[in-house]
Amino acid sequence: MRVYLDNSATTRTAPEVADAMLPFFVDKYGNASSIHSFGEAAKEALENAREQISKYINAEPDEIIFTSGGTESDNLAIKGAAYALKDKGKHIITSRFEHPAVLEVCQALEKEGFEVTYLSVSKEGFVDIEKLKESIKSDTILVTVMHANNEIGTIQDIEKIGSICMEKGIVFHTDAVQSVGKTPLDVKKMHVDLASFSAHKFHGPKGIGALYVRKKDKIKKLFQGGSQEMNLRPGTENVSGAVGFSTALKLLDEEDIKKMSELRNYLIDELLSIPEASLNGSRENRLCNNVNVSFSHIEGESILLGLDDKGIAVSTGSACTSQKLEPSHVLLALGVKPEDAHGSIRFSLSKYTTKKEIDYTINAVKTVVENLRKISPLS
Ligand code: PLP
Repeated sequence: MRVYLDNSATTRTAPEVADAMLPFFVDKYGNASSIHSFGEAAKEALENAREQISKYINAEPDEIIFTSGGTESDNLAIKGAAYALKDKGKHIITSRFEHPAVLEVCQALEKEGFEVTYLSVSKEGFVDIEKLKESIKSDTILVTVMHANNEIGTIQDIEKIGSICMEKGIVFHTDAVQSVGKTPLDVKKMHVDLASFSAHKFHGPKGIGALYVRKKDKIKKLFQGGSQEMNLRPGTENVSGAVGFSTALKLLDEEDIKKMSELRNYLIDELLSIPEASLNGSRENRLCNNVNVSFSHIEGESILLGLDDKGIAVSTGSACTSQKLEPSHVLLALGVKPEDAHGSIRFSLSKYTTKKEIDYTINAVKTVVENLRKISPLS
């Protein structure tokens, strides 16, 4: 049996998405900026995709900028806003448990003379909104706080943060890469000015994402070379990717959220029946597909490899940083002890996950954890 439970790292491209994309490789392959009929066909598909994406998040089509994915959207949002607003102020607020695509951009900006406040996170995995309010200064130009965390799945009160920023006239960016299709998303209701998306996290293709840019908010483009994407992101448009992105959105179904939540709850309950296992992050306000558990006295990497031997794919810490053997910065920000952070495993489900796969996984985890503890020098 092969079980894929690493859907926060990436998802299987839905067959319907691949089918919808294919004509744009072999038939309608024109450059969307060309004015002949091949170009026009590509342009039409691109603009249809843009319109559907904008509808999904309650935005206008010309507020959607296609990018190569979440990392680029985060870079364009944060650096773009910082450079556009630097004459107004140089202070940025973020949180300690953001994805590296946000944290590393903030660190790079610090080297360029910007000042960044990194907000602490509660044990349950939520940004302290009172602290955020207290951190705002007269020269604060940007707040960037993620919608849902990629490691522990906690969902922040973006609407509340957004209304504080709106009141103070501060640009607000949210990294919504993990939340699409798993929790409601309405950029107007959430008062966000900038929001990052990535299609491969919800059964779309890799290499296409978007940045929502509210009309009135100015960002500076980071690359030179053309006037595509409202003159904010030059380069030949990824038409097949955009079609795949919008097709994946069309396939999202509330029933899947219900199904994933039930399986998630079942998996959490069963894993917590293992001695000295603890859930990382709140059970409430948590993504419907995220389970993150620490198993004391053993290394997450050993559990991961033991499960891989049984055909089960999971991750330790964030997939993007799993090359490093440092404890996850997210778990450390929550106050999890480094040794427990080392023993953590993230299981992330998708709409394709079945009860049979979860039962198989539960048995496998119980066996692997028991066997590892028998030989662990830490227990
Ligand atoms: N932001 C978050 C919260 C993520 O989980 C990821 C990917 O893991 C990214 C950004 C980066 O997205 P991409 O892989 O599309 O560059």
